[in-house]
Amino acid sequence: MKETAQDIFAKDARDYLPVFNRYRIVLDHGEGVYVYDNTGKKYIDFLGGIAVNVLGHAYQPLVDAVSEQAGKLIHCSNLYYTQAQADAASKLVKLSGLGKAFFGNSGAEANEGAIKIARKFAHGIHPDKSQIITAWDSFHGRTIATLTATGQPKYQEGFGPLPEGFDYVPYNDPEELEKRMSDKTCAVMLETIQGEGGVHPPKEGYLEKVRALCDKYHALLIFDEIQAGIGRSGKFFAYEKYGVKPDIVTLAKGLAGGVPIGAFIVTDEVAKAFHAGDHGTTFGGNPLACAAANVVLDTIPKAEFLERVEDVGAYFRRKLEALQEKYPSLITEIRGTGLMLGAQLTKPGRDIVNEVLEKGAIINCTAGTVLRFIPPLIITKEHVDEVTGILDTVLPKYAD
Ligand SMILES: *Cc1c(COP(=O)(O)O)cnc(C)c1O
Repeated sequence: MKETAQDIFAKDARDYLPVFNRYRIVLDHGEGVYVYDNTGKKYIDFLGGIAVNVLGHAYQPLVDAVSEQAGKLIHCSNLYYTQAQADAASKLVKLSGLGKAFFGNSGAEANEGAIKIARKFAHGIHPDKSQIITAWDSFHGRTIATLTATGQPKYQEGFGPLPEGFDYVPYNDPEELEKRMSDKTCAVMLETIQGEGGVHPPKEGYLEKVRALCDKYHALLIFDEIQAGIGRSGKFFAYEKYGVKPDIVTLAKGLAGGVPIGAFIVTDEVAKAFHAGDHGTTFGGNPLACAAANVVLDTIPKAEFLERVEDVGAYFRRKLEALQEKYPSLITEIRGTGLMLGAQLTKPGRDIVNEVLEKGAIINCTAGTVLRFIPPLIITKEHVDEVTGILDTVLPKYAD
């Protein structure tokens, strides 16, 4: 029997750990850029499962690949080989120009793996070379090590004692980074474009300077592209946009178009730090997730696909800038690139998101006052017009 939304809210309130500040709709199914709630109401989805549903909903080649793989082998142990996993690893190595890939099940796990291999690699140089530097306002996950890497005290409070060896610097400030670095620095870990912290792209020249400092102190450069990667910036890896190559890159969110997956990719030199038994996973890189990833990896890296992301992203940005011009007391800045855009507000955005939802569009607010747009990468200019049109009807009330 199909339950009503009220029934489901009640059941959830009784039985689900209340860690999410949820919007009160029950989602049922989706198609393309649209999702439908359990009453049949249609919403245009400009959140895309938080940068996950990169090919939209119910994308037929993805549905087919997952269905076919599920009918053959959903899971097998990593003690055996599968073609799906070998294919996905080869594609990531080729796209990144790095050396070896490993699969987990989430972004946090990808970053845990990156932290582990960086520590092991640096330990081989000197046992005291363990400092990991991350940025304030970063987001790297919710496990104990990755929430420690996350430079936001609100995510750490009450979870101590936290692992040692993490330090924080302001993002986009190479001087502060240089002051913190020494031969004891194991790695610098940054989001190529900060997402959850409010959509902050790197300033011109910043990542080059970070790369040079890492080289100077023989520290590894880790880019967390869990949100900014997989074509979202208009390049497959956001770092390609800035011409700076990391030693380790992490991916998750969009990598399998919605099926849980995470990956870290390292240079061949870094890969040598791990030997059989040093790391592992039961589910990571299972054939179901890798079959899904292979569809994404055969689709998004294509030049025409990425050019469309750039083109639609630039159009979206212009439309948001027009809203900024119209409502300057409310919107002070448009940030981001490709289909990772943010509008800085002068007040909290949650009520706006709720009203936009009422009117049939799913958008997001992050860092309290930033409207964040991380839609499926298949959106068209017409979809952009639909969402900016809805925004234009909601914003006047907030702009006085
Ligand atoms: C979402 C996110 C993570 C965490 O991914 P999970 O799959 O939720 O563990 C880590 N880093 C960045 C940049 C993210 O956006």
